Amino acid sequence: MAIKVAINGYGTIGKRVADAVDAQDDMELVGVTKTSPSFGCELAQRKGFPLFCTSDSAASIAAFATGGFECHGGISDLLALADIVIDCSPGITGDENIARYRGAGKKFIFQGGEKHALTGQSFSSSANYSENLGVAGTRVVSCNTTGLSRTLVPLYEACGSLKVECTMIRRAADPGDSTKGPINAIKPVLEVPSHHGPDVMTVKPEIEINSLAVAVPTTIMHVHSIIADLPEGHGMSTDSVLEMWKATPRVIVMSGVENRITSTAEVMEMARDIGRKWGDLHEIFVWEDGVSLLGDRLYYFQAIHQESDVIPENVDAIRALMGVESDWRASVAKTDAAIKAYYGI
Ligand code: NAD
Repeated sequence: MAIKVAINGYGTIGKRVADAVDAQDDMELVGVTKTSPSFGCELAQRKGFPLFCTSDSAASIAAFATGGFECHGGISDLLALADIVIDCSPGITGDENIARYRGAGKKFIFQGGEKHALTGQSFSSSANYSENLGVAGTRVVSCNTTGLSRTLVPLYEACGSLKVECTMIRRAADPGDSTKGPINAIKPVLEVPSHHGPDVMTVKPEIEINSLAVAVPTTIMHVHSIIADLPEGHGMSTDSVLEMWKATPRVIVMSGVENRITSTAEVMEMARDIGRKWGDLHEIFVWEDGVSLLGDRLYYFQAIHQESDVIPENVDAIRALMGVESDWRASVAKTDAAIKAYYGI
């Protein structure tokens, strides 16, 4: 029987997770929520996704009809239909929402805007899928932490230990967000180390990692500048690191010079060229010519499409929590094949 999935918060992440769930033959999307009438409601209706309200307030539910949308009820009505809920709310309502999910006796998955302490469990497909098997709830780590995990976890597994220093060069805002900045400045995150690197340790505590972060005036991607110290006798070379990443799911390794993809602008253009919906890139992009192992020290750059790298991870997290697939690689392959077939790419 298909796993019944609810999405609470049909925004930037929620609308993408909804499509990714809808693509899976072992899952059924039972509904999505919005706080009030908006274009997002029309999008849900066009897709045929049942629409619910984020609250149970009769006045809030009634407002949808006034706005011309069919609302099937409040969040409690939606939870009653679901086996599991994916919380894609803005990252400030976790305490209230988790109490609601627990009260309804439903499994739950939060996003990286919430802290690890909320769930006491975090998730990244390649790092700790098996630790999430059958648990009541988890948190898919942020776009940055997901990106770091994708390339660092296989490196750690090849070497046996890893010390990492990295700088997150962060997009200032998502493309659809006109309220954030900076628009003409480079803004260091004055929390040192930043939370991004250490958050990797919530899914792979064996990796020693710290990070700095700066926000820059772009909307399309984050870039990570990474220095990783490998243990003595690691036996790796620049070529073997590249081969390892080429064989890693959801990592793309390409020469920037040969392909004329030398910046995040061209990476995003490539995603649009190959027909990815919204111009998304679920994979982490590593510039082949930006990777260099000098002695025990590895230098590399990678680009993260912040709105989309976590999307397939949410689908894998559903399978882990519901205990229907124990092998992370099998789940990743199934998730990715279904998404590609759904969009015809
Ligand atoms: P968003 O603002 O685009 O969407 C949030 C949605 O939740 C909106 O539709 C909003 O109406 C709805 N909402 C508001 N209050 C709610 C409530 N109490 N309960 C349920 N839904 C509510 O936000 P987003 O960018 O999609 O971020 C969602 C989560 O994903 C956050 O934790 C964020 O940190 C995380 N995340 C975001 C990105 C990104 O690049 N946008 C990347 C990775 C992770």
